[in-house]
Amino acid sequence: MSRYWSELVKNLTPYVPGEQPGTRPVIKLNTNENPYPPSPAVQRAVAGVSIETLRLYPDPQSTQLKDAIASRSGLSPDQIFVGNGSDEVLAFAFMALLKHSAPLYFPDITYSFYPVWADLCSIRYSEVPVKADLGIDVAAIPGENGGVILPNPNAPTGMLLPLEAIAGLLQRCRDSVVVVDEAYIDFGGESALALIEDYDNLLVVQTLSKSRSLAGLRVGVAMGNELLIEALDRVKNSFNSYPLDTLAQRAALAAIEDEDYFSAICARIVASRQQLSARLETLGFEVLPSSANFVFARHTQRDGAELFQRLREEGVLVRHFAHERIQQFLRISVGTDAECDALIDALERILGSG
Ligand SMILES: *Cc1c(COP(=O)(O)O)cnc(C)c1O
Repeated sequence: MSRYWSELVKNLTPYVPGEQPGTRPVIKLNTNENPYPPSPAVQRAVAGVSIETLRLYPDPQSTQLKDAIASRSGLSPDQIFVGNGSDEVLAFAFMALLKHSAPLYFPDITYSFYPVWADLCSIRYSEVPVKADLGIDVAAIPGENGGVILPNPNAPTGMLLPLEAIAGLLQRCRDSVVVVDEAYIDFGGESALALIEDYDNLLVVQTLSKSRSLAGLRVGVAMGNELLIEALDRVKNSFNSYPLDTLAQRAALAAIEDEDYFSAICARIVASRQQLSARLETLGFEVLPSSANFVFARHTQRDGAELFQRLREEGVLVRHFAHERIQQFLRISVGTDAECDALIDALERILGSG
């Protein structure tokens, strides 16, 4: 704390991302990165960028990228917003669309960045408890609100809400914006994109970080009614005109266009997820039904924090949250087959040794 800090900064409780290991070799299953490389088309696109072009500012509108996303999703380019990771896109949505006199609603077990952005933007919020099975209690969200945000599938549970539940929520919240954070939708869920036509209060946010293996590139997308997109553009153009650099725009375009590679690695992760869940169950874990690229599991006999620590000592990083409702759970990203084998081996050693 310094006397030079603003009141705003003094009162912040920043989000803490999952650990990024240094040079120590570890099995890294703690931040839901994709275990497979990006499409080879991304490599070619980046290699094809002449260094000379980096002298110039990038296209502030990311026109080509937005056009490609629009045609893939059956929307028009003015229904698309792109930003520096979906974290930035979401932060803009908080400022542009979710700050009103009535409180913002989100689940109590969810992406832990939401309360951080709410505090940053001085938005009053109310957390809606998830049900006993940890599913989101959509019916408990009041229709009158200053906005709603939820991930689908939810993080860190991986549990999916059916599209009818999202449609029902939109129907009840005609006077506020509902943001559906679809960071993990490509691993088995049905996107709410199809509802944009019917609901001008729906903002769908997606990312290239998980299903397109581009967490390091930082590209996120929002899709919705053109007036919602205009609101995001107004914030963006009051903050940073060039959130996507030249390399990010080219690489993201190549990734979006390679539909075959994308479907292949998503299918592979879904198959590995089923195998991993079954193997964890054999070891005495209860595994929540996941539609994401991670599983959320608790051991029926052993303490979650202890297992997290023991795995860490074995060189396997997973994620553990101190929140009381989920402190017995581990969130484990789906890795390659070799990484999943290493996790299971480490767990067998830990559980066998008491
Ligand atoms: C990973 C994640 C994000 C952020 O993704 P970036 O595009 O890498 O910023 C947003 N929401 C949820 C729920 C996530 O898990």
